[in-house]
Amino acid sequence: MSGKLLVTVAKDAGFCFGVRDAIEKAKETAAKHGKVYMLGNIVHNERVVSDLEKRNIRVIKSLYDATDAPVLFRAHGTIPELWQKAADQGVGIIDATCPLVYEIHHEIKKLHAENRRIFIIGDHGHDEVVAIQAQVPDATIISTPDEARAIGRVKQAGIVSQSTQMMENVQEIINILMMQVFDLKFVNTICFPTRRNQDQIKELAAVNDVMIVVGSYTSANTKRLVFVAKTLNPRTYQVEDADDVDIEWFKEAKSVGVSAGASSPDDLIQEVVQRIKSI
Ligand code: SF4
Repeated sequence: MSGKLLVTVAKDAGFCFGVRDAIEKAKETAAKHGKVYMLGNIVHNERVVSDLEKRNIRVIKSLYDATDAPVLFRAHGTIPELWQKAADQGVGIIDATCPLVYEIHHEIKKLHAENRRIFIIGDHGHDEVVAIQAQVPDATIISTPDEARAIGRVKQAGIVSQSTQMMENVQEIINILMMQVFDLKFVNTICFPTRRNQDQIKELAAVNDVMIVVGSYTSANTKRLVFVAKTLNPRTYQVEDADDVDIEWFKEAKSVGVSAGASSPDDLIQEVVQRIKSI
C-alpha cells in the first residue's frame, strides 16, 4: 500500500431513528425513575448494552423481575400477550416501539381481514418477526427461497416483510410465490432507513477498493449488509471495533468505504474510521 487511504463513510451508517429514539427513551426513563428494565437487549451491540447498564437500564428475563421500575418495550415490537401480562400485573410500560414496526402490525391485520393466508418474509425467532406473527392467527414465516417453494399452491395470500430484510431476498421469495399463489398481495414493509442503508452500502462497495462494515457478529442486520457488500466487492470485511481492523486488508488499496449495521453506535464507527485513517 502506498499513499493515504481515501475513506468514505456511508451518510446514514449506524443507528436508525427507531433505535436512536428507543435509546433516548430508555435514558430519559432511567433518569426519571432511577432505573428502567428491558426484556432483552435494546440492540445487538455489546458496547451499547454495557453503556446502558451503567445508566441503570437493566435487562430482565421476565416481567415478574420488574418490581421497582417500569419496563421499556423495545423498538422492534412486543407480542400482545406481554402487553396483556404487563397490564394484569400493573407493570408500568414505556413503549419504544418504532412507528414503522407499528405500520407492519397494521398492514398484516389488514391483510388478515381480507381473509388471506398470511406470510411474513423474515428471520425465524427474531423478536420483531415474532411480534409481527403474533398480531394475527396462523401467520407463516418464510426466511429463504427454499421455504417459499415448499409452501405449494395457495389461493389468496397476503405478505409483509421484516423491516430489515434484504431487498434481494424478498424479491426472490416474492418471485417464487407469484408462481404459486393465485391472488397475491405484497406490502413492502422493509423500512426506509434499511433501504437507504442497503443502497448506500451497495454504492460504496462498488466504487471502493475495500469495504468495511462495522457491527456485532450477533446482529442479523449487519450480517445482511456484509452479504450485500460482498456480492459487489469481495474485499469486504466485518469488524466489531477498531481492534479488529487488519492492516493486511488494505494492501494496494487506495479507497475504503465504511458502513455499519443499524445497531452500531456513532462513536464506534468513528473509532474504526480513525484506525483505518491511521494506517
Ligand atoms: S430498522 Fe426500521 S423499523 Fe426497525 S427500528 Fe429501525 S427504523 Fe424502525
